[in-house]
Amino acid sequence: MALDKNIVVLLGGVGGAKLAIGLAQIVPAQRLTFVVNTGDDFWHLGLRICPDLDTVMYTLAGLVDPDWGWGLKGDSVVALETLNSFYGVDTWFRLGDKDLATHLQRSRLLRCGRSLTEATRRLSKSLGVDAALLPMSDDEIPTKIETVEFGELGFQEYFVKHRWQPVLKSIRHAGCERSSLPSQVRSALSKADIVLIAPSNPWLSLAPILAVNGMRDLLTSLDVPIVAVTPIIGGAAVKGPTAKIMSELGQEATPANIAKFYTGIINGFVNDIQNEPLGRSDLRSIQVNTLMKTEGDKRSLAGATLDWIESWVA
Ligand code: GDP
Repeated sequence: MALDKNIVVLLGGVGGAKLAIGLAQIVPAQRLTFVVNTGDDFWHLGLRICPDLDTVMYTLAGLVDPDWGWGLKGDSVVALETLNSFYGVDTWFRLGDKDLATHLQRSRLLRCGRSLTEATRRLSKSLGVDAALLPMSDDEIPTKIETVEFGELGFQEYFVKHRWQPVLKSIRHAGCERSSLPSQVRSALSKADIVLIAPSNPWLSLAPILAVNGMRDLLTSLDVPIVAVTPIIGGAAVKGPTAKIMSELGQEATPANIAKFYTGIINGFVNDIQNEPLGRSDLRSIQVNTLMKTEGDKRSLAGATLDWIESWVA
């Protein structure tokens, strides 16, 4: 099963990391590249925070908090609580004590002039991650959310401070016109035999990746299977605001609308058994269980997806 194929996965945080760990268990690490959303990243308390990169890194390193699906297991928040009680600093964004080590080290590397790609390589190697973990860009491309109640919000203000409750009007990827793809992302995609789009939030996690200058053109120039996995099961998101955002943008939360979002990019779609069939003759699709509750579910979905893609060319 796909042991000799180069696989590139485009993904966000928690939903994407579930498929990532499933793949990492069945595909040799040197064949796997993860290209991660950095639109959620921000400078906070003097530190560069990269939530999705860290979620994927901690997951692949076996260090992620199993209850949350992000952060480090067994972490505490003494530093943050002290910052608040001593100095009255607003600590709405949770940063664990152990987790702070990652943000300090990354910020130090960036301030020494290293790129985010290089900083991520060093952090992930130190934690024993063998697969390539790449940010979508070394440029800062912060996602901005235009809301009905508060006007434009930074991503984490929308997502964490306001718990994604404001009504979303539109999304902007600030500075994407001037951004570029890291050479490592270009090279991995140029050598890819299979590209997977994880069941991450299309609007919040995948749109930023597709907004990096050159990404759409590069993907459409590839002559390989490019397959998205549905994040919508039974008309709802497994977690987070995907279905809510779709409704605010005037769309029904259906797999057909997820596939439509990736029009021109994907040539295959992994649909869930609980969903209605896609009913499109121009797009290959398969229906399997995509709900990943257990480690076995994650492996099965990764395996079923790769086996199905391999059957196209067999
Ligand atoms: P975030 O960046 O941490 O918000 O995470 P992602 O964007 O990577 O993932 C959020 C999306 O993952 C949501 O739309 C969820 O519906 C989807 N998701 C989470 N868990 C699962 C799962 O087990 N199966 C499927 N198919 N989708 C999932």
